[in-house]
Amino acid sequence: METIIGIAGIAIMAVLLSLAFRKKKALPTLASDTIQPLLQEHVAFYRALNVEQKAQFEKRVIGFLEKVHITGVNTTVEDIDRALVAAGAIIPIFSFPDWEYRNIHEVLLYPGSFDDEFKQDTSDRNILGMVGTGPMQNVMILSQQNVRDGFRNTPDKHNTAIHEFVHLVDKADGSTDGLPEALIPHQYARPWLKRIHEEMQLIREGRSDINYYGTTNEAEFLAVVSEYFFEKPAEMEKKHPELYDLLKRIFLPPA
Ligand SMILES: [Zn+2]
Repeated sequence: METIIGIAGIAIMAVLLSLAFRKKKALPTLASDTIQPLLQEHVAFYRALNVEQKAQFEKRVIGFLEKVHITGVNTTVEDIDRALVAAGAIIPIFSFPDWEYRNIHEVLLYPGSFDDEFKQDTSDRNILGMVGTGPMQNVMILSQQNVRDGFRNTPDKHNTAIHEFVHLVDKADGSTDGLPEALIPHQYARPWLKRIHEEMQLIREGRSDINYYGTTNEAEFLAVVSEYFFEKPAEMEKKHPELYDLLKRIFLPPA
């Protein structure tokens, strides 16, 4: 028995060591001159940055791809997919130069929305994306088609990659609850939660243009309004000034 435990222990150690070793190895990323035209063409958020900020954005996209593997499942991952997934990761935390995602090491790209087998508590809408839990901890699943559609040149209020990465940012403090504690200044936590519930009521009454999915819970509300905030900031500022102001305090802290 002890020998068996001993052997099992050695086997577990070997697996842990190999995982630790694998983590350290830098992944193939994209070169700056590959990324620039892709971001310029497809990512409105990037286009709105100044030269210095653009260089910073590219650097962080490259850094993200060095750490997070993008794997295609029944599909081929192209440069544009790598650039767009990484852009979706960087946009929500771009104003936080020291932010690093510690809760993800792989993104699985499916060709379109997922099969029913992935339906579980954490799945989203028609399952365009999800943040894994349990054995899928540190893995995100995204629909390749929806990631691409989300970044199309005419921005709407939907962006699957931004939505899922906002969940990861929210989750970084240990709970996916709509309150990203690392980002939101303490004094705005209560006004933020109050505003969430007021706006949820308006959505339920059909008096808000925010996606109905945002009424699911506080976490989905944050993810849905973040898509709106980053895709159509001017429209949100006009239609939802108070909400816009609070999201600014979360995502765009004063320099
Ligand atoms: Zn969601």
